[in-house]
Parts: sequence; C-alpha cells; structure tokens
Amino acid sequence: MVKSEQMEQKAEGKREEKLPFEEPSYCLFCGVVGPALLYGHWACEHCKNVVQAEAVSKKSKIEKEGGGLV
Ligand SMILES: [Zn+2]
Repeated sequence: MVKSEQMEQKAEGKREEKLPFEEPSYCLFCGVVGPALLYGHWACEHCKNVVQAEAVSKKSKIEKEGGGLV
C-alpha cells in the first residue's frame, strides 16, 4: 500500500541533526575525556604509548626470564 508508506515517511520526515547518542568518551586507563564517539572505549595517546611500552617490556621480561626487575 503506497499511500500508508508515504504517510509513514512524512511522519519520520522531521530530520533532526542530532546523532542518536554522541557522548564524550573517557580514556580506559586514565579517564581523560576524549573525542565524542558512539562507543565508550577509547585510549588517549599517552595511555596508548604506555600500553605499548608495557607490552614491549613484558616481552623483554619474558625473554630475560625474571631478570631482576620488581
Ligand atoms: Zn589515558
């Protein structure tokens, strides 16, 4: 039924420019407010670097097999 379809489209026709829910994201690690995303998981540049550095140090720790750190 074309007629009722057209009516539905008309009802939807108020185009609001708002996005469904755009919320500021928070860094998963330090909680700093980041860019608005449609999902909340985000890591700031600083924490990305930290995580990367940790991954690297973990790797080298394994390679050293308990080499005196900690
Ligand atoms: Zn952070």
